[in-house]
Amino acid sequence: MFSPQKIAVYGKGGIGKSTTVSNLSAALSVRGLKVMQIGCDPKADSTKTLTCGRKIPSILDVLRGKKHGSTLEDLVFEGFNGIYCVEAGGPVPGIGCAGRGIITAFNRLEELDAYASLKPDVVLFDVLGDVVCGGFAMPMRGGYADRVAIVSSGEMMAVYAAHNIAQALRGFSARGYAKLAGIIQNSRNIDNEDAIVSQAARELETEVIGVIPRSGCVQEAENMGKTVVEAFPDSPQAAVYLALSKTLFP
Ligand code: ADP
Ligand code: MG
Repeated sequence: MFSPQKIAVYGKGGIGKSTTVSNLSAALSVRGLKVMQIGCDPKADSTKTLTCGRKIPSILDVLRGKKHGSTLEDLVFEGFNGIYCVEAGGPVPGIGCAGRGIITAFNRLEELDAYASLKPDVVLFDVLGDVVCGGFAMPMRGGYADRVAIVSSGEMMAVYAAHNIAQALRGFSARGYAKLAGIIQNSRNIDNEDAIVSQAARELETEVIGVIPRSGCVQEAENMGKTVVEAFPDSPQAAVYLALSKTLFP
């Protein structure tokens, strides 16, 4: 059976998951790997910088529109360098449950045999980690992701979310599901940030596997609808994302 390597990247909302994951996808694709990125945030904007700044229709939106007959072509969109872009999407505000939405989206991808048809080498899940309820925990259990990386800055709320995510994961990894791969520090330039994130990693019995500097070129690229890797491939920031891609996928 065809089985890609799968990593789920969790973290607090707004911490820089989508930026980091999209740049990782771009870096991996530049290295010649076939990548699929699955956004699991009701915002459904995970893959925006891979698709010229335009949001693609989410699986939940498509399923709501046509109850039957949605195909892979309706749900998977090719972005930068042929990266397969997918957004799980979210419920209509006030009705339904966001976590439940992820489960519905995953089930549809499975019914359509997405991995066997598209044969990605690598699948990256970009998952909102503020609430690790059953739905948002889905990517870390049941064989979805092999590994989990957590994006955190040194800010208290980001570290708090990192602890919650790691705690949820501990229960599942005991059953042979996803293992914690480490913390990716997305720097906010707060005081003692490196020390705070390193301390959090020690407490979670893991390591800081990459330190991403805060850089104006991230916003600049985003304004162009691009990742840093696409917009400024020769920049030091692009080199950081490339190095992180090699740490995660040597
Ligand atoms: P999340 O997916 O975790 O909600 P995003 O990836 O959308 O967060 O990032 C939130 C904002 O932070 C974006 O506007 C993005 O441009 C900015 N950002 C993320 N990482 C960096 C960085 N390393 N340097 C500068 N800005 C960043
Ligand atoms: Mg996001």
